[in-house]
Amino acid sequence: MSGKDPVIVKVSGPLVVAENMHQAKMYEVVRVGEEGLVGEVIRLESGFASIQVYEETAGIGPGEPVELTGQTLSVELGPGLLETIYDGIQRPLKILEDKSGHFLARGIDADGLDHDRKWKFQPVARDGDTVNEGDVLGEVQETSLILHKIMVPVGVREAKVVSIKSGEFTVTDTVAVLDVKGKKQDIEMRQFWPIRNSRKVQNKRVPETPLRTGCRSIDMFFPLVKGGAGCIPGPFGSGKTVTQQTLAKYCDAQVIVYIGCGERGNEMTEVLSEFPHLIDPNTNEPLMRRTVMIANTSNMPVAAREASVYTGITIAEYYRDMGYHVALMADSTSRWAEAMREMSGRLEEMPGEEGYPAYLGSKTAEFYERAGAVDCLGSDDRQGSLTVIGAVSPPGGDLSEPVSQNTLRVTKTYWGLDKNLAYQRHFPAINWLKSYSLYTPNLEKYMKDNVSSDYWELRNKALSLLTEEAKLDEIVRLVGADALSVREKLVLLTAKSLREDYLYQDSFDPDDAYTPALKQYQMIKTILTLYEEGLKLADRDDFDFSKVEGLPSLQKIARVKDIELKDDDIAPFESLRAEVRKEVGAL
Ligand code: ADP
Repeated sequence: MSGKDPVIVKVSGPLVVAENMHQAKMYEVVRVGEEGLVGEVIRLESGFASIQVYEETAGIGPGEPVELTGQTLSVELGPGLLETIYDGIQRPLKILEDKSGHFLARGIDADGLDHDRKWKFQPVARDGDTVNEGDVLGEVQETSLILHKIMVPVGVREAKVVSIKSGEFTVTDTVAVLDVKGKKQDIEMRQFWPIRNSRKVQNKRVPETPLRTGCRSIDMFFPLVKGGAGCIPGPFGSGKTVTQQTLAKYCDAQVIVYIGCGERGNEMTEVLSEFPHLIDPNTNEPLMRRTVMIANTSNMPVAAREASVYTGITIAEYYRDMGYHVALMADSTSRWAEAMREMSGRLEEMPGEEGYPAYLGSKTAEFYERAGAVDCLGSDDRQGSLTVIGAVSPPGGDLSEPVSQNTLRVTKTYWGLDKNLAYQRHFPAINWLKSYSLYTPNLEKYMKDNVSSDYWELRNKALSLLTEEAKLDEIVRLVGADALSVREKLVLLTAKSLREDYLYQDSFDPDDAYTPALKQYQMIKTILTLYEEGLKLADRDDFDFSKVEGLPSLQKIARVKDIELKDDDIAPFESLRAEVRKEVGAL
């Protein structure tokens, strides 16, 4: 080794400082120490480089070599991403384990994609075609659910297809040759993309279709759109992980990317052991066939967590570019922010609020801005979307802390999980008084056209009754229930039914976990029929309200979620509403 070779001068946890790094570039991937740990250059200063290391640095010390790779931290994109569980820098966990057992050895090289597996490549483009970035050259049936599109790499314009193959190939075989302005370019089924840059799109569109989740509280009251960004803040134990996983199971995105940065080590283990066995209720296929998982188990170092959200979102964008609706769940982004804080502290940067770096806000915004409904690159009018849902775990549930604040600023749907609701075992513990969705105007037309013309009227009525209930509760606490008018008693009765019979939903009950849109609407309409009919009694001051409370149809409303909606036949709901009208009318 000459005196000018890059060597380590300092190690501080995941941060390594090396000298003689004049040749290095910002965000270049380097191999650190004798073991060749994977790291990334995050600061350069007169030959000194600060390197964020993605593996445990214990035992590494000054004097050990650093090797430059010339690459930026990138993901390998191509068939075989689905069904795989990765670490934060896209190494398949299975391969890491096979090579080193449960205690991950360090410096392991593992390609993101399997380079030996053959895939059947079906050409779409033909010899002589002129193609541009994003155009589909061919297709591969990646899983039973997803047809993988092999696209012309970004940056390639006005190329001619010199030759294109058909048959079984690995991701590193040449499947097509392009002539790009006189230069030949071999095309493989894989391509690389630097994780910190968003992938190019033709155009961002205004999102106008809902992301259906089957969760009644979310879909009806605080909906998310395909291409939107939402957040789930909540204290420990309030249901962030259950909600994210329920969405991953049931939402109507075609591809799911799930990033787990567990609070506790065993939490991720649970996800990892459970998820591969789950069946997609919409297709009856294993859920993994549409899923990519990124797992940061507790024995993985903090810097890998920082990278994992970028690794995940880049993979998600790649499937969006094929024209799919993709949903990404990140649980929990607070761990990501903490990783940033730790690295920033070690870099001795000027700390911002609560020790987080001053760029926390811009990094958070950049991340959520990668969501969107888009016109994909390419000439065939593909449209795709990427929906991003981030969980936030504010310490003590206090939303005034920086991660929550910065997230709320850039996400348009907020599902606020409530400690008290979780404690009362009201699930999902989404607080209906505090949560909101700014996407309702986007969905106005869609819900009217696809569910019912009075959809929004009923939804707003139900929400206002829940809000009024909270005010009336206050009065009851002060002066007792006797002081209430008949109408107010009716509000309380209806709101109770909305809470218990509609909002309460058990994610672990296979019959209850998913409710289709039409059934959600029918349930609300039925509960509100009680209110509308009851209003006719409101001007009878001496009316004995216990008569309403004792109506037999009330018992049936309590089981409205059990009514089956077969072939969209709403007759059972209509007959229950007729019963309510008749019984209330008879009073
Ligand atoms: P967090 O991630 O916020 O710490 P979890 O998602 O682990 O919380 O939820 C804690 C517990 O609350 C779960 O183990 C489960 O018993 C219960 N729970 C949360 N959400 C639901 C739900 N939608 N349906 C049924 N039980 C739930």
